[in-house]
Amino acid sequence: MPTFDAIVIGTGQAGPSLAHRLAGAGMRVAIIERHLFGGTCVNTGCTPTKTLVASAYAARLAHRAGEYGVTIGGDISVDMKKVKARKEYVLGFSTRGVERGLRENPKITVYQGHARLASPDSVVVGSETLSAPKIFLNVGGRAFIPEIPGLDQVAYLTNSGLLEVEVVPQHLIIVGGSYVGLEFAQIFRRFGSEVSVIEASPRLIAREDADTSASIADILGREGIALHLGAKVLKVGKRGEEIVASLRVDEIERDIAGSHLLLAVGRRPNTDDLGLEKAGVATDAKGYISVNDRLETNVPGIWALGDCNGKGAFTHTAYNDGDIVAANLIDGAARRVSDRIVAYNLYTDPPLGRIGMTEAEVRKAGRPALMATRAMENVSRAFEKGETLGFMKILVDAESRQVVGASILGVGGDEAIHVLLTLMYAKAPYEVMQRAVHIHPTVAELLPTMLGDLKPL
Ligand SMILES: Cc1cc2nc3c(=O)[nH]c(=O)nc-3n(C[C@H](O)[C@H](O)[C@H](O)COP(=O)(O)OP(=O)(O)OC[C@H]3O[C@@H](n4cnc5c(N)ncnc54)[C@H](O)[C@@H]3O)c2cc1C
Repeated sequence: MPTFDAIVIGTGQAGPSLAHRLAGAGMRVAIIERHLFGGTCVNTGCTPTKTLVASAYAARLAHRAGEYGVTIGGDISVDMKKVKARKEYVLGFSTRGVERGLRENPKITVYQGHARLASPDSVVVGSETLSAPKIFLNVGGRAFIPEIPGLDQVAYLTNSGLLEVEVVPQHLIIVGGSYVGLEFAQIFRRFGSEVSVIEASPRLIAREDADTSASIADILGREGIALHLGAKVLKVGKRGEEIVASLRVDEIERDIAGSHLLLAVGRRPNTDDLGLEKAGVATDAKGYISVNDRLETNVPGIWALGDCNGKGAFTHTAYNDGDIVAANLIDGAARRVSDRIVAYNLYTDPPLGRIGMTEAEVRKAGRPALMATRAMENVSRAFEKGETLGFMKILVDAESRQVVGASILGVGGDEAIHVLLTLMYAKAPYEVMQRAVHIHPTVAELLPTMLGDLKPL
């Protein structure tokens, strides 16, 4: 039986960097991947979708060129094969880089195949059983498939399948009006598809504040995306070549017929075929592996990192999990997941940058708080760029005077939000930033000004 100091299952966003850190500390490490090196982010998540967001932005700008005094002769069209080739080119660097890095590390042995725990210190992959006193689970997740009558009769797509299409769908029906669904909705609308989004909640991305949801609905509506909110999908079926989704909204039933159907109603962890029961590793009711603040499972010597532990659903949170575990094991640190501040972006155009608490959460917490907002049309950088949709919001704790949450829905919001995130990590009072001089003209330059406009919530 090959014996190692550590076994890592999965080469997503936590596993490879952790494997290199452990190897650097002198350990002999086995890492196992069953499918594509780099996992979801690199192959079917962040990287490919953001290349499509870039292509969609180019298409949009081409259509708007006249507003900027630029004339484009002839028709503007999108060649999906070229869009896809560009996507493959970009992600290829990452996936090959992850694999090459692991294979070239003399302390790391790469295994390819589906891994399952056989006991608290052994793992079966193919015909081999490996053992190690430390096992790290970085198995990620996959699209959740809801139970909709008729689904087995139609060729539905998830994020992975939609990234492979080589034609612009004539009419893309998307079930799910949250982060993944909305990015795809805008991408394909800009490529020229008719797009219908079906969302069960009365508003889009219901975890965000109501004004954010409304603003995003307005932005997408202006581009001609049909939004069906508070809609329950009763069944799906085929009508000739078309896929038909039957909905009920406000007791009224109607059918939507389209050429493609995307399911984007959330994710589920890849823990159902991992042999967790053989090692006695506990999960919650949804299958997420239960971990403590140091990402240790209930079984000594087994850790769970990334999406499979339910503590985050992003590349940066998965990577940070690996960092925390490496620091605690190798450097003797005492780092905790709960030290992490909630932070993520929605990559619509304009993007939404989000950190910390929402306004609704601050109100619910009942602590005295201050808030400032500013429309993007009052940001000169946005005005100059001709991209004035959206707004910014900053929330401050009235006693500590620290920022507790913020959102920037607007051009450059995905980058500018980090200015406030850094202030939060520094635990500095907001006055520190209020007195800072930011560069003109930028979106971030208005943040100190906004802090001068704080009012009691
Ligand atoms: C469409 C989409 C867009 C996204 N966009 C963003 C974004 O812009 N920004 C962001 O931060 N996040 C984004 N995410 C989320 C991000 O992709 C994930 O949070 C991140 O990839 C999680 O990393 P991970 O390491 O936990 O798991 P994964 O990246 O899923 O990696 C897990 C790996 O484990 C392997 N594996 C699983 N089971 C086994 C087994 N039994 N044996 C061997 N190998 C196994 C898998 O093949 C996979 O390679 C997006 C997700 C999607 C679906």
